[in-house]
Amino acid sequence: MTAILTLDLEDLDRYADALRAAAGAIVSGDLEGARSGIEPITFERWEGRLRYAAEAGPATDPAERRSRDVTDPMRAQVFLRDEMTCTYCGGRCVPRNVLVAFSDLFPDELPYHPNYRHGAIHPMYWALAPEADHKFAHARGGTGDIANLTTLHTMCNARKSDALVTDLPAVDRPEHVIGWDGLLAAYPRIIAMGDSHGRRHSAASYHDRWLRHFSRKPE
Ligand SMILES: [Zn+2]
Repeated sequence: MTAILTLDLEDLDRYADALRAAAGAIVSGDLEGARSGIEPITFERWEGRLRYAAEAGPATDPAERRSRDVTDPMRAQVFLRDEMTCTYCGGRCVPRNVLVAFSDLFPDELPYHPNYRHGAIHPMYWALAPEADHKFAHARGGTGDIANLTTLHTMCNARKSDALVTDLPAVDRPEHVIGWDGLLAAYPRIIAMGDSHGRRHSAASYHDRWLRHFSRKPE
């Protein structure tokens, strides 16, 4: 295992490129190709300082503990509206459920822990997974409105700390990000391959729910 202590935008691209290569192989039914796709990022684990405040809480999705008024279908809508890019850094996002499907398929190479336990989770969860965060912390009566939510990487959300998203500089979306789908097109195939070759990290209904939220059909 390689301990990772810091993350920057180059890491983000390294993870996104490796997963994109693996997803391409998975769609062609090529397990070994997928394995070589993820090879540049395997066996890393996050040991940096960013951490969730409620780390010792019950085993639910950490993002749910952060914003209880935001439902998963709302999150999916926000990510789709923002075209799977982070509004803070402009980089590519891969939804947590898609990352979990990769970890199901490669549980040792891409470790996952549902509570984001320190030292037990691959840094791609910090670098690539988005959260739907409030633009205004105390919006007037509009907490349930997706217009008040924006897509931020978990690491970018942790970094911006208490600054309002509206105070952050606007970023241009890099060329290679246009048309990015967060690897959703490959998601049903990744789940299917994980069913036959991997080890599940969640209840069987987890991926079914997220397929529905993103209006995707199981493979
Ligand atoms: Zn970001």
